[in-house]
Amino acid sequence: MASTSADTPGPSPRAPLEVHYCQVCTFPLEYCEFGSSFTKCKESLLKEDPDVYNKFYSEEALQAKLGTLSLEAQTKLEKDTAAKEAKAEKKADAALKKKMASQVTIKRIARNKNKYVTAVHGLEAFGVDLKKAAKQFAQKFATGASVTKNNQGFDEIVVQGDVSGDIVEMIEDGVGLLKGVPKDNVVEVEEKKKKSGEN
Ligand SMILES: [Zn+2]
Repeated sequence: MASTSADTPGPSPRAPLEVHYCQVCTFPLEYCEFGSSFTKCKESLLKEDPDVYNKFYSEEALQAKLGTLSLEAQTKLEKDTAAKEAKAEKKADAALKKKMASQVTIKRIARNKNKYVTAVHGLEAFGVDLKKAAKQFAQKFATGASVTKNNQGFDEIVVQGDVSGDIVEMIEDGVGLLKGVPKDNVVEVEEKKKKSGEN
């Protein structure tokens, strides 16, 4: 019988294992992320060989990789995410507390004999647009009102005349832009003009 050995397929030729080495860190591409130049590695690969880059770092590739993460790694990832979210929540909480603790100061300031201005500070903590509020005061009292920086460098509204009591009332009644400013946060103060030589 004729041998059929010639027809017998030998061991099928193995496709050469394709290993790409990184030009930056010199490791196989799979190991780039463990080196200290991962960002540079990726940038270089994207420039040199976009196809290979996509094989490793495309959206799909990353998704596939995420799916093969060990349970331990997934748990850690979830933990990290939860920690990040808790931190953001804490920050929002602190912002709310700060807002509730913010004071609106309405200060009557004597400029000259029988001449006063009223400075309103702190409305911005309650989301009030100071320029618009100044306009509202100007219209309401038919007087001048503007936004200026005080000595501490904070913006405040300065209204001509002694209208401190009226502004407190406006806040209590929630008139116009002042709606939502809690009246419990309002403090009325008076600044007396210091005369030189006075102790
Ligand atoms: Zn690399």
